[in-house]
Parts: sequence; C-alpha cells; structure tokens
Amino acid sequence: MLKIFRSLIIPALLLMFVFSSCTTEDGMEDDMEVVDDQDDDSGDDGTDDDNDNDGDTRIDISSLVAKFYYEESLVITVEDEYIIIESSNEPDHKSMYYDENHALFEAYDEPNNPDFKKNPNRINAQDFVFKIPRFPSEATNKEATPMGPMGVAVNSVAFFNQQAAPGDDILEELNTFDQYEGHPAQGGDYHYHIEPIWLTDNKLEKDSFLGLLLDGFPVYGPLENGQTLTNDDLDDYHGHVSETAEFPDGIYHYHVTEDLPWINGDGFYGEPGTVTQ
Ligand SMILES: [Zn+2]
Ligand SMILES: [Zn+2]
Repeated sequence: MLKIFRSLIIPALLLMFVFSSCTTEDGMEDDMEVVDDQDDDSGDDGTDDDNDNDGDTRIDISSLVAKFYYEESLVITVEDEYIIIESSNEPDHKSMYYDENHALFEAYDEPNNPDFKKNPNRINAQDFVFKIPRFPSEATNKEATPMGPMGVAVNSVAFFNQQAAPGDDILEELNTFDQYEGHPAQGGDYHYHIEPIWLTDNKLEKDSFLGLLLDGFPVYGPLENGQTLTNDDLDDYHGHVSETAEFPDGIYHYHVTEDLPWINGDGFYGEPGTVTQ
C-alpha cells in the first residue's frame, strides 16, 4: 500500500518541481544551465543521458523550501548558490515557555518526568538568518557544529546540537523540555536538541523531512522504509546516503534517533553555511 502510494507521489513531486522551475524568473533558469554544465556532451543531439562525469552531479535542494510551512515566522529566498532562511524562531505549537498572555501559552501540568523542572527563560522572537548551501557537498575536513543554531526545522525552530551551554549538563537539561520536547535558551531562543515530536507525531510523519542543517543536508525523522533507525544505522555524523521521498536518486541525510546524540553526531558532513543572530 505504502509503496503504491509512493510510486504515485514521487512522479507527481517531480512534475511539480519541473513545473515550478519552469515558472521561476529567467535569471534562475540561466543559472541552472551553468550548474548542469551539460554543454560538454555536444554531438549527441541531446540523446545521451549518461551524465556520470564527476563534478556535474550536484543536487539542488531548493525544492525543499516548499516544506517550510510556518510562514508567520519564516522568510526564505533562493539564491544561485545559497538558500537564505530568515527565521523569528517562534514555534507554531503550544508551550509553557510562551508568555502567559501569548495565544500559544499552555501550562504543562502533568509531565511524565518526575524530575521535570521549568527553566527561567521565556520564548522571544529571534532574528536568525541561515545561509545554507543550495548544492550541499561533503566537506574535506568535517567541522564541529556550533553552540546555538546548527540548523532550522520546517516550523522555523532551531536545531541545537547534543551539548548544553558550558557548565550545564545536557542530560539534566532534558528535564526542562516542554510538552513538545523543546526549551528556550537564555536569549529566549527556543530550540530542539532531540526529536521534535510536534512535527513527527502531529504535523508530519515519523519518516518526514524535518528541516536542514547548516551544511544543506536534510534531516529526517527516525523512521525509514517502515524501520526505526538507531545510531548503529548511521555514520559518525549521524547520517547516511539513501533514497528519500524528496530525493529518489539518493542524497546524504541526517536522521533523528531516540538516543544521544539525537540529531547530529561528530559535526557537519558537508561544508556548512553560516547563521547570524
Ligand atoms: Zn538547549
Ligand atoms: Zn535515511
């Protein structure tokens, strides 16, 4: 059943992508030609589809922009080489960390965790600007992820890595997560260190695309082809190469897993972009 569904969906998505790239402004199409760099295959009347030459197989992730749904908190621009995501970083779900006058404030009365404790911070709107490579590529020297935002989810909320602020213990901080497993740092910057269950259990599915890390490689939920992945299924950076719903030809991607380090492992697999705040 699932496979039949997918086999219908994927061609539909491809058609949508082709359609949307035909309707973008002229400048973009010109750049696409430069990117594809297929003029070298002259003499075959364009019938040769075997473009297996190294160097001209860059994957364009700009089709993922449409998945970023929380427009109240996001402005996204696709440039030739980068995707610029401006985010006010305000979750679209309820939280005990919103101000009590906020429409999305909700007390967290019955946490399952006996060690639960609210931290003193409140959610404040941010001014994050993520500059993410549109054509992600594996880094020669893998860089550590930064403290603060290392990526952005489809609802505008930042992904943070598996480390707490200096002097704090991330396993202690788990006790401060709200009803959707996030919490704000001192600047009011709300974030997820672990599976964003608002997305995987409510808005989307366990195997959905959830957002991007700064290197442009996508983050997916814990499920793939009906199987829940563990850290053992992934490399040191917490990802692997395989097909995904959005990239049927395969792409490197990260997965969220149940256990530490949750989203990213030893750093970015790809060349990271930048984030300003
Ligand atoms: Zn945190
Ligand atoms: Zn995967």
